Amino acid sequence: MSVETPNRPIDQSIIEPQHVETALLHRGGTAGSLTPPMHAASTFSSSSPDEAARKARRPRVTDFYSRYGNPTVQAFADAVADLEHAEAGLCSSSGMGAISSLVLALCSKGSHIVTQRQLFSGTTLLFESVCPRFGIDVTFVDVDDSEAWAAAVEPGRTALVFAESPANPGLKLVDLDAIGAVRSAVTVVDSTLATPLGQRPIDHGVDLVVHSATKALSGHNDATLGVIAGDKTLVNEIWTYATIHGACASPYDGWNGLRGLKTLGVRLERQCANALAVATALERNPAIAEVHYPGLASFPQAELASRQLANGGGCLTIELAGGHDAAVSMVESLELALLAPSLGGPETLVNHPASMTHAALSPEQRAAMGIGDGMVRLSLGLERAADLIRDFEQALVPRP
Ligand SMILES: *Cc1c(COP(=O)(O)O)cnc(C)c1O
Repeated sequence: MSVETPNRPIDQSIIEPQHVETALLHRGGTAGSLTPPMHAASTFSSSSPDEAARKARRPRVTDFYSRYGNPTVQAFADAVADLEHAEAGLCSSSGMGAISSLVLALCSKGSHIVTQRQLFSGTTLLFESVCPRFGIDVTFVDVDDSEAWAAAVEPGRTALVFAESPANPGLKLVDLDAIGAVRSAVTVVDSTLATPLGQRPIDHGVDLVVHSATKALSGHNDATLGVIAGDKTLVNEIWTYATIHGACASPYDGWNGLRGLKTLGVRLERQCANALAVATALERNPAIAEVHYPGLASFPQAELASRQLANGGGCLTIELAGGHDAAVSMVESLELALLAPSLGGPETLVNHPASMTHAALSPEQRAAMGIGDGMVRLSLGLERAADLIRDFEQALVPRP
């Protein structure tokens, strides 16, 4: 491992002291620097053609050509792999870059994929409109129906089982033990909303975990980045394809990812506390029909949440009693919270799926995915909870 990834700390124990948040802060640079170096190079010299050829074949090489691997980018992938208890990590230019290269590396014409109906919109498009063009057959099941997952897997035909938990945007959970128990196909969990401090799918027997590191991992809304972690043989196989796919991450974003990991623990703590405070306040507000938050006692999968999530997370989803118009009026009336896609950053963001990410679908299609026209997803930032509660409460006062 250390031959392949020179930036990985030699002393593995640094990431496994009593508390991982402490270890993350002390994952420094070299020569006394508290921050890691940034290698903004696209290419690296070799002493002979033989050496160059050897490098080009070494999985996740960091001293050949940056489309094959870059030291700064790989240092971030290694840090996430450590956090996820994974053997190996690989970065991509975005969460979708990671998901696309993973799916296209592991599936071919005739392959079968099992996934869920309630998914991030980009992943939905990949499975619904790209995979069929390449003769890849996809079965969609309900996120919270563990038996449907198992029943949809056809040993010998199913190549990939792809889960997302908590799932965008309704925050329903997939039973990670049920996914990890599938042995006849490669299992993947998109764990973006949980972060490695919320859950570790690999500990449940899952083969690969994927993150949009654009979100909480880099954590400052200033990087577009994706990462895959898991079984080394699979990660190396994905790397072989990823060098051709070409969605490689920039060293600047890899560096911002490393910077973000240092404060992940303290940011997540504040975001979870804010999410719980806002969820509790909105549950009492007559303008709100429903609040979906894994940290609330009223969450339908509260038992599963307490079994597999270390915290409630920084996102919550609400359904406005007044439907579409009430949701639009609320998001337009917010003064602190910003209307923007993305989540896990320092600023509180809101997203109205029916008019933003899922606007192209019919109300019936959205309903099948569990997306009501009055649904709004909140990503809680680092503001003071009282300021946020005041903002949401003023935005929910009926306008003349
Ligand atoms: C944002 C997101 C993605 C896609 O990541 P990008 O970095 O935007 O490409 C995938 N999955 C989930 C759950 C996400 O929230």
